[in-house]
Amino acid sequence: MEKREQLYEGKAKKVFATEDPNYVIVSYKDDATAFDGTKKGTIVGKGAINNRMTNLLMRKLEAQGVPTHYTEELNDRETLVKKVRIVPLEVIVRNISAGHFASRYGVSEGIVFESPVLEFSYKNDELHDPLLNDDHAIALGLATRDEIAQIRTYALRVNELLKDTLAAVGVTLVDFKLEFGKTEAGELVLADEISPDTCRFWDSKTGEKLDKDRFRRDLGNVEEAYEEMSRRMWGS
Ligand code: UDP
Repeated sequence: MEKREQLYEGKAKKVFATEDPNYVIVSYKDDATAFDGTKKGTIVGKGAINNRMTNLLMRKLEAQGVPTHYTEELNDRETLVKKVRIVPLEVIVRNISAGHFASRYGVSEGIVFESPVLEFSYKNDELHDPLLNDDHAIALGLATRDEIAQIRTYALRVNELLKDTLAAVGVTLVDFKLEFGKTEAGELVLADEISPDTCRFWDSKTGEKLDKDRFRRDLGNVEEAYEEMSRRMWGS
């Protein structure tokens, strides 16, 4: 499908129209931001790695019954996806305490939860993505009760499938963020990306961080961590 005008530029991706109003092309950038966009940088090669990893995982999820926006990988950085209206919720699933969970509740990182913790925040940069519950989301008209129930079911299934896929390559899935969208036809599908930008990955043996925390926290070897995740996923 032909790439037409740019519709949108986000922090990590650009979105282009195609000749079909039901499809758009996403193009992954090497740009990295953290802390509400106040920290900026470049992670060389990130765009291609995130594009290919997202697509690999979405194909797997799709095959296991989780509908996604994924349609076709066009090249290293670009993918054809179904056009959706994004549900303005960041859907976070946590298996182990880290990041904001640890800071907000005053606990250390690394506490293994008995069952996954699912949380929502309102996707709104001006308000700094405030945490909210189901009733808040419904009252604000962000999603219906049925959509939230469906999102919850999909998110937990994604967690189980990703945990197993990553465990097989020696990676512990600590937590991650998902976004869902609604297609023109009204189908609720998994959208956005699944990558070291949006997940916390710890090496199962050493605990080494293999995700964007290396950039956020200035830990060094940022590119190497993304490349290591790519090697684990493709075994080369
Ligand atoms: N996350 C994300 N985008 C956001 C906020 C969080 O992709 O705007 C991901 C993050 O990479 C981590 C998980 O969601 O894997 C949980 O993040 P947390 O709430 O701990 O916030 P963070 O410390 O990442 O800001």
